[in-house]
Order: sequence, then structure tokens, then C-alpha cells
Amino acid sequence: MMKIDNIYVGKGEVVRGALKVGELPDTSPILLPLTIISGVEKGPTLLICSAVHGNEVNGVELNFRLSNSVDPSELRGKLIILSIANPPAYNAKQRNNPMDEKDLNRCFPGSANGSISDKIAYAIFHSLVKRADYLIDLHSGSEHFRMVPLVKIFERSYENVKFFGIRFVETRKGIRGSLAKEAHKIGVESYTLEIGEGGRLEEEFVSLGLKGILNFMRGIKMLEGKASKERVLYVKKRVQVNAPKGGILAPKIEIGTRVKKGMRLGEVHDVFTGERYVVRAPEDGWVFGVKKNPQVYTGEKCFLIYK
Ligand SMILES: [Zn+2]
Repeated sequence: MMKIDNIYVGKGEVVRGALKVGELPDTSPILLPLTIISGVEKGPTLLICSAVHGNEVNGVELNFRLSNSVDPSELRGKLIILSIANPPAYNAKQRNNPMDEKDLNRCFPGSANGSISDKIAYAIFHSLVKRADYLIDLHSGSEHFRMVPLVKIFERSYENVKFFGIRFVETRKGIRGSLAKEAHKIGVESYTLEIGEGGRLEEEFVSLGLKGILNFMRGIKMLEGKASKERVLYVKKRVQVNAPKGGILAPKIEIGTRVKKGMRLGEVHDVFTGERYVVRAPEDGWVFGVKKNPQVYTGEKCFLIYK
């Protein structure tokens, strides 16, 4: 039997419940929705979170599908799914919590006496993360910015990263106060998956992520069956390419394309003068992100290149 606050989960059970983290002015509760699937056999505990940033919803749909696709009789260990980690931000359809204007992903491990984001972080960290052996935190890129799927890790020794079926992996130090970084600090093997763009539900990325997580679960022996391993490419450096001037951006390249320094990425069109300004790759690398919303101001992020 596992107990998380007032939620009890027996072996072989699927329990849907919620952690109460606070109240709205009308006293209706702020709830973190949880699905806990407890295997019949012993094994590790995997925590999967989505919507730490409220507008990144590919992960929410992925977790919805995951919660309906794992049979406890076929599971070893425990799967804890937190599909909406930041309900106030999710309800407002925005990245940060509008109640205190904080970025939840800078608030971990949280504080029981802080503002609402600190309290949410505290509940997630102390009730869920501390029980986990593995953490997968699901994110997406900015809105109107099409991105290549990417896994972020802290240690090159995380061999299990090869089970996600996602080709690009970034090794990084991580940001203090982020869920993955703080979980990593207390010994939880933590992965951040960046799938798709904020504010959208993208079938190709939801199914890719779901397939990858089920394969990861086979890889760490939570599910039966042979796991496939993807050859991964470790990227280290991220280069942002900004608009040289204001105008209409016309991208001329697709995400995932390999580029050489000086290659044309797109054009900014000046509606006053009729001129075209070519935006070029400042370095060799892979085009990771392309801005989809075409109105750009001087210095606005247009492309992202990883190398
Ligand atoms: Zn995010």
C-alpha cells in the first residue's frame, strides 16, 4: 500500500485523485490531478509531470493517453502521473502562474510558507519527487515557435536516454529552482523532454513522446518486452538568431535541417522599402527552432541553432 497525502493505492490498482495545494478567492480548491498506477510486482517509481508551464499542453495530452494505456497487471513498480503541475497557469493558458506571476520551474523545491507557486512546488517536491527513482518532466517550446524534439539531461552517463527514440540530447548544468535540476540534486534520475510548441496539441509529437516513454519504461524494466535503443546526438551549444530589423519574416528552412555557416535561413521583408533582408546561419549546426508567427521586431528570436 502506498499513501500520498489522503490517496491510498494498493498493489495492482489504478487510482485517480488529487493533491490540494490551495484555494481560489471563492474557496474552490486548487487541485493537482494525479493518476497513480501501482504494479503487482516490485520495481522503480517513475514520476511524469506536465504543464509545469501552463501553456505547454502536448505533455498534458500525452499523460492523458499514458494514464489510460498502462495496465497495472503488466507493470513493475509505480507510475505517478501529474498531468497539470501548474493549474493556475494552465487555466489562464499561459506559461507562468497569474496569481503570483512566478515561473513554477524556478520555485523548486518550494516552500510551505511561500506564495502559491512556492506551495505548489513544495507539494510536488515533497509528496511526489522524493518518492521517485526517475522523473520525466514534459515541456514544449515557446508559442509560435516550431521546435525539434529534444531531451535534456545532466549527466552523459544517463544511458537510458537512448530509450526515448528522440535523436537530439542536450547535456547541461540546468537552472537552479527547476523541477528537473532539484530532483537531480536529491538523486532522482531526471529527464526533461521538450516536445513541440506551446499552446498547441501536435499529434506527431504527442505520439512520438508517448511511444518513447513506453519504450523507456520497457528499458528500465517497468514493462515487459524488448526496448529499442536510438542512436543519439549530443548537442552542446545553442545559438539564437534574431531579426536584423522589423518586418515580415519568411522562413526558408525546415526544422531539423543541417546548415553551414552563412546559409540562408529566411528573409525579413520591409513593407516600406520593398527590400528583402537575408537572415543567415551564424554558425554550422542543426536548425532546431523556426518562428512561425511572421511579424518580427528588431532583435526578435527567429531561429534557434544547436551544435
Ligand atoms: Zn516549459
